[in-house]
Amino acid sequence: MKKIAILGSTGSIGTQTLDVVREQGDLQVSAMSCGSNLDLFEKQIREFLPSMVSVKDEALAKELTDRIRDLSGISIRFGIDGLMAVAAENDATIVVTAIVGMLGIRPTIAAIRARKNIALANKETLVTAGHLIMPMVKECGVSLLPVDSEHSAIFQSLNGERENRIAKILLTASGGPFLHKTKAELEHVGVQDALKHPNWSMGRKITIDSATMVNKGLEVIEAKWLFGVQPEQIEVVVQPQSIIHSMVEYEDGAVIAQLGTPDMRLPIQYALYYPKRRPLSGERLDFARISEIRFEKPDSETFMGLPLCYDAIRRGGNVPTALNAANELAVAKFLNGEISFLTIYEILEDAIRNTAFVADPSVEEILSTEQSVYDRIRSKW
Ligand code: NAD
Ligand code: MG
Repeated sequence: MKKIAILGSTGSIGTQTLDVVREQGDLQVSAMSCGSNLDLFEKQIREFLPSMVSVKDEALAKELTDRIRDLSGISIRFGIDGLMAVAAENDATIVVTAIVGMLGIRPTIAAIRARKNIALANKETLVTAGHLIMPMVKECGVSLLPVDSEHSAIFQSLNGERENRIAKILLTASGGPFLHKTKAELEHVGVQDALKHPNWSMGRKITIDSATMVNKGLEVIEAKWLFGVQPEQIEVVVQPQSIIHSMVEYEDGAVIAQLGTPDMRLPIQYALYYPKRRPLSGERLDFARISEIRFEKPDSETFMGLPLCYDAIRRGGNVPTALNAANELAVAKFLNGEISFLTIYEILEDAIRNTAFVADPSVEEILSTEQSVYDRIRSKW
């Protein structure tokens, strides 16, 4: 039986990963971690009986120990060491990285070094440490399988084409809840408006990233690392219905796309069973009913997430880290009601312009860049 570990089992990707495990019936969960949702985590532990679990801090680990006293043989860890243990110290062969943010960097590296394949949902790790992760994946001989729906679509569109050069990647975007809004209208949008994504139900951070279009910008950087293309070869196309999940254009002009209903279980399952496809329950596309698929150019004047991310990749070094760290804190502040929606862009621009440049940052330098960006933001906003 194939064994898997899940970082972030109680989140949007984590719970859908467990749906796949439940539906397929031939995967075993050997380790899993969560932040602080102990009620759900306890239920998951009782259902899947992993041999190792981890939570955010020591107090939660103590509480969990009390709650599952009747179960034997489960090692309970906490904090970053716990996350790294769940990623590496068990008999899983594939690790699903479903935690949010740069917190994923060290556990992902630990998993790769332990020769585990990675089903990567945690895009922030590639955005900030892609230059370290990609060579490590090669050196350790593991597979890095994309879970992000667009990257899974690109990956599927590359099947059988590995020898052929990519002319262009067409990365599709839904446009999020504020598509067609003007800057003046965005001045007064609130947290609840931003959390209403038209097509996808996801965690809070990525839902805000979709509203700002920063998510698409992070995905451009993610695609650059995963598929070895230049940023200029990646074109973002707004496809408001989320039917086409992304496309690859080859040198002869042929465009190959992957289409489907918006259901994250498909890319999760594809990564877990690659290269095999398995049956999956759920709705199917009904082309007679759809009748048309619409496209638009992104409005990069209003939604500055995209141009800011292109700017960060062009500058390179630790600038994508500065942008990503600024975004993590800015989104947290927005969700907390501390800043307005448009202030998120101001904070990102400030971080891109004012972070001390490091050309080829190590993990320590990435984490110290994160810290200095946080300090700067906290002193100004
Ligand atoms: P989420 O907020 O729903 O879940 C996050 C998980 O991380 C939870 O299990 C939470 O308990 C855990 N966590 C939070 N803080 C923690 C801590 N300090 N220590 C340990 N665990 C902690 O997030 P999500 O929407 O599932 O997104 C996960 C990742 O996948 C993100 O990088 C996101 O960009 C990416 N992604 C998500 C989707 C989606 O549909 N949700 C699609 C594509 C990519
Ligand atoms: Mg995506």
